[in-house]
Amino acid sequence: MAVTRTFSIIKPDATRRNLTGAVTKKLEDAGLRVVASKRIQMTKEQAEGFYAVHKERPFFNDLVSFMISGPVVVQVLEGEDAVKANRDVMGATNPADAAEGTIRKEFAESIEANSVHGSDSDENAKIEIDFFFNEDEIVG
Ligand code: ADP
Ligand code: MG
Repeated sequence: MAVTRTFSIIKPDATRRNLTGAVTKKLEDAGLRVVASKRIQMTKEQAEGFYAVHKERPFFNDLVSFMISGPVVVQVLEGEDAVKANRDVMGATNPADAAEGTIRKEFAESIEANSVHGSDSDENAKIEIDFFFNEDEIVG
């Protein structure tokens, strides 16, 4: 296996409850290294662009509203098979289905306000990292 990168967002429900550190600790304990991080207020246009793949889904407008309801922390994570390592520690989309010890099991409020985003493939990780970061902002 190789060291790869993935993209993470600590969502507004988590920043609102001051869980940035607690979520990041879970990521680090899972073997991931934060190699870039910034706290931003996403614009509606950014959120719509980022989630464009979901634009036909019934929850799209609610999801965009939620993602701009407060600050988020966007991060680049590095580690062995980072996409999978991150998805494993995130847990299932719906916290009711999330395994013990996962971020969503511990912190998520609902299927929408589920505390974290994580890329679902190496290809999407690159696209999502490029959406928010310049290469010179990523320091391994
Ligand atoms: P994941 O974040 O686990 O990759 P998806 O890519 O399917 O999940 O969905 C993106 C985000 O959209 C979810 O993290 C969640 O915030 C929201 N979402 C997904 N499914 C629903 C739903 N049925 N109702 C409301 N929001 C949803
Ligand atoms: Mg997804």
